[in-house]
Amino acid sequence: MQTVLVAGGAGFIGSHLCKALAEDYNIICVDNLITGDKKNIEELLSNHNFQFIEEDITKLNSEFRIQNSKLDYIFHLASPASPNAKSPRSYINYPIETLLVNSVGTYNLLELAQKTKARFLYASSSEVYGDPSISPQREDYFGNVNPNGPRSVYDEAKRFGEAMVMAFVRKFNLDARIVRIFNTYGPSMQKDDGRVISNFINQALEGRQITIYGDGSQTRSFCYIDDMVLGLKKAIFKEGLKGEVVNLGNPSEKTIKETALMVKDMLKSASEIVYHELPEDDPKRRNPDIEKAKRLLDWEPQVSFDKGLAETISYFKSL
Ligand code: UDP
Repeated sequence: MQTVLVAGGAGFIGSHLCKALAEDYNIICVDNLITGDKKNIEELLSNHNFQFIEEDITKLNSEFRIQNSKLDYIFHLASPASPNAKSPRSYINYPIETLLVNSVGTYNLLELAQKTKARFLYASSSEVYGDPSISPQREDYFGNVNPNGPRSVYDEAKRFGEAMVMAFVRKFNLDARIVRIFNTYGPSMQKDDGRVISNFINQALEGRQITIYGDGSQTRSFCYIDDMVLGLKKAIFKEGLKGEVVNLGNPSEKTIKETALMVKDMLKSASEIVYHELPEDDPKRRNPDIEKAKRLLDWEPQVSFDKGLAETISYFKSL
């Protein structure tokens, strides 16, 4: 069996990925659990081919490097990812950790990939486009990013991470790929992560006010987790994609207000919709152009927003 290292494997996307790989690969899941949660991987802990290492990838020691000298693939999904300052898990509350895990952490994992000859995938983000002046966003758009605003700790960290990956591709001919993940949702999202989908569903379920930031005219395009995991697998396992940068997301664009109304309606909730101040630098539009993913990966999302929301609602109800 080949061996896959998943950094950030106890996070929302990472844990779903570990589960999807568990039958076919040896998995080494690395996570420092600052925003991830061991509960996400509980069912995998008894698998003989699954190993969890609680470790910070910005501080990989030589023992770790020696113990993990036989790797075939490395996924780098380790990073806080929520922009919501009110959430204890947000990158706003872990600014230094976010900058370091995407810079030093990326460097450490790339070095490990180089030594072990593993293929590498970096989870970048639609945030590299900042508050985009074009929509949909295609991979060759350079973005519109505030270099030192509150979101910069994530946006600039992901941009630096991409530059570091490409440096290893160009200088050492490493087989590394970059995916830019757009908003993703589904079961096992954390209830307190402050993301719009988890907030709206839990507010509606508990009869609390549904909080729209700004006037709700800003858009996002939500990708269901199962579609995302398939995209990630294709992006690393397909041959001939060295140095490629590919958007992964669902192109179906919704305003935040539409999203609030949909959640409220699906739950037949009596919650009042209230409007709060829009956070600084909140992107007005976000919508992936996925032509490249279709062409290179033969991938496009299959799960409708209705179906995905229903699954996510059932999950939160079950907690
Ligand atoms: N948002 C909102 N209410 C909430 C949480 C988020 O209106 O309770 C908005 C947020 O301002 C942004 C969008 O929903 O415009 C998506 O926010 P999220 O934090 O999920 O991720 P982002 O796409 O901004 O990284």
